[in-house]
Amino acid sequence: MTYDDNNIFAKILRGELPTKKIYEDEYALAFPDISPQAPVHVLVIPKGKYISATDFGAKASPTEITGFYRALSHVAKLLNVEASGYRIICNAGPDSQQMVPHFHAHILGGRKMGHILAPKD
Ligand code: AMP
Repeated sequence: MTYDDNNIFAKILRGELPTKKIYEDEYALAFPDISPQAPVHVLVIPKGKYISATDFGAKASPTEITGFYRALSHVAKLLNVEASGYRIICNAGPDSQQMVPHFHAHILGGRKMGHILAPKD
């Protein structure tokens, strides 16, 4: 699978779609999820062109990986969910229902969540 330059997050990174920047540095951008599933729901994406967590882990440089993870931790602090707790979700591929093919981490918090997965249908 090749990276699709027209995915929504690629457009946000290029400034072609509006968003409210919560945090940005050389490695990552954080912005609110357009359809929040919790009082705190923020997406953190790497600046590089990676499709999924698998792709990022396999192809990103150690500097990009460290930079991204540091940004993730920093954003969790900015969002003030460290003490109350939060969840990081990275969907990858069809079974996870990943919708946007640019690697992203959801940071969710501000309410009590179910344990890991919703029950099966
Ligand atoms: P995933 O299912 O992990 O690929 O999640 C993609 C997320 O992107 C969903 O939670 C959407 O609500 C969110 N999303 C889609 N378009 C936008 C947008 N323009 N700005 C912010 N979040 C978006």
